[in-house]
Amino acid sequence: MGSCPLLLFLVHRKPLYPLSVTLSFSHSSSSLRKHILEKQPEGNMNPRHGLLKHSSLVIRVLMALILGCNINRNNHFFQPIAISTVSSSSGSSAIASLEALRLDGRLSLENNQHAAKDFGNRYHFLPAAVLHPKSITDISSTVKHIFEMGPTSGLTIAARGHGHSLEGQAQAHEGVVINMEALQGQVMHFHTGEVPYVDVSGGELWINILHESLKHGLAPKSWTDYLHLTVGGTLSNGGISGQAFRHGPQISNVYQLEVVTGRGEVVRCTKKQNADLFYGVLGGLGQFGIITMARISLEPAPQMVKWIRVLYLDFNTFSTDQEHLISTKNSFDYIEGFVLINRTGLLNNWRSSFNPKDPLQASQFNSEGKTLFCLEIAKYFNQEEYRTVNQKIDSLLSELNYIQSTLFLSEVSYMEFLNRVHVSELKLREKGLWEVPHPWLNLLIPKSKIHDFSQEVFGKILSDTSNGPILIYPLNKSRWDGRTSMVTPAEDIFYLVAFLSSAMPSSTGQEGLEHIVTQNRRILEFCETAHLGMKQYLPHYSSQDQWKAHFGNQWEAFVLKKSTYDPLAILAPGHRIFKKK
Ligand code: FAD
Repeated sequence: MGSCPLLLFLVHRKPLYPLSVTLSFSHSSSSLRKHILEKQPEGNMNPRHGLLKHSSLVIRVLMALILGCNINRNNHFFQPIAISTVSSSSGSSAIASLEALRLDGRLSLENNQHAAKDFGNRYHFLPAAVLHPKSITDISSTVKHIFEMGPTSGLTIAARGHGHSLEGQAQAHEGVVINMEALQGQVMHFHTGEVPYVDVSGGELWINILHESLKHGLAPKSWTDYLHLTVGGTLSNGGISGQAFRHGPQISNVYQLEVVTGRGEVVRCTKKQNADLFYGVLGGLGQFGIITMARISLEPAPQMVKWIRVLYLDFNTFSTDQEHLISTKNSFDYIEGFVLINRTGLLNNWRSSFNPKDPLQASQFNSEGKTLFCLEIAKYFNQEEYRTVNQKIDSLLSELNYIQSTLFLSEVSYMEFLNRVHVSELKLREKGLWEVPHPWLNLLIPKSKIHDFSQEVFGKILSDTSNGPILIYPLNKSRWDGRTSMVTPAEDIFYLVAFLSSAMPSSTGQEGLEHIVTQNRRILEFCETAHLGMKQYLPHYSSQDQWKAHFGNQWEAFVLKKSTYDPLAILAPGHRIFKKK
């Protein structure tokens, strides 16, 4: 991905379903009752919708059990890469009843192949219908209708943002996909006071939010590397980029959500009101509700960005500098890094967008055959700060131990900087290289184990070459809110390591899908056998035991929330965590 390393994931699949799953559900259901009673006082309810008020506790406990049993009985659900191109007739009567709903938007029953596709380009599950909503009511009445049909309809619902998932997470096999982007274009409401924020639709693209916010001199604080993703899609995962060391991920920068639960109820939630749902939905993989509105925290937007790259030959020096920068006050505004394996003419390629500080020395630097670590940093500024920003940068750089001849600088507008990956996208699209399979693997590695990880992975598993950018940078856990559903390693600092591979469709060699998937599996196996305490970001698993291990001590709370907000397991079936009967 050219000059702009992006992000993300992969799989290992063992389609097994152990008995312990049922036991865990039974166990959690007993604590479930107590938890609901303690955590959901009447005063916290949304009076209009009365989410919990009308639901019987007994039914919820039963549903928790049913969810567990279903998972055990339906091992086939977890088979990898099922390709479906036609819908069965089993759900046709259920779908027919949906057609009778009065909608502001429309329900499409044909030509829905696009909803069976995502950026990963490896999983294709055809839905029975795609809803193109024009109102929140379209979404709530559709979900409610399916909920009221009960467990026997078999219909599930996947909210689809921009479809940039990698393993079918936004797909619904013979179910209903909700095209959240159909809600785009709804007016964004800006609040420009002392604590600025904007209310946006869950289907809004971050690039559109940036454009609109800049008109008010404002911008969100925390980003992803690529902005053609929706608010609902990234908030369901986390939303991590080079600003997260300071501001936390995107899920740490949300004040309020409007959510349609798996019962079809529309609930407003904040840190104080319906907080259980608020935190559950953030990083909740779409399991508890569909985000229809989010209130995003804003800050004054800078005009310009100094964008800097420097190289290291030694991982220890590189990571020491990264860790120093993320814990320094008045540090850079963006801190990332990436690994470069055996690249020819690397610095020459950079010259198209960056200027070497020392052109002569830079031209003599040879990257061939080497594994290098690139620190990528940025400092924001406004025109009137031009002189002082250079002094600040010089001072920060003087504390680092990079290879002096490899200092490259660039100056771009804030918009250009944030939208940098889109430039790569356009180039790759032109060459037909955007819509290839993307077996991405995204990991969070605790700081204490990052050296073991680096030695094994960059020293052995990937010592010759890589099939795409490899991002690596540290994050401060203190910027994460432990009450969200997102799972992180149990240390104060952890690294995001993202293998952003592209597979060449016709290749059976090193550039082929099989080879990359095997490498990914080796990396995952190493993490497991070396007990690194790694957590997947944008996680993907094929058995519920793996999901349980992923969530660790958060698993019971996750199951409890599922049984509360989506008791029939209608929502987000593409993650394959729970199975609708
Ligand atoms: P989709 O793929 O459409 O959906 C993702 C999941 O969210 C699905 O489970 C879906 O059902 C659910 N969902 C979608 N909308 C809603 C909603 N409104 N309410 C509830 N659930 C919903 N991630 C980062 O953190 N940092 C990055 O820098 C980054 N860069 C990326 C670059 C590229 C090129 C790509 C392809 C992905 C990148 N990602 C990054 C990953 C990205 O954040 C996730 O894949 C995200 O889910 C994609 O958003 P989307 O709108 O396409 O969601």
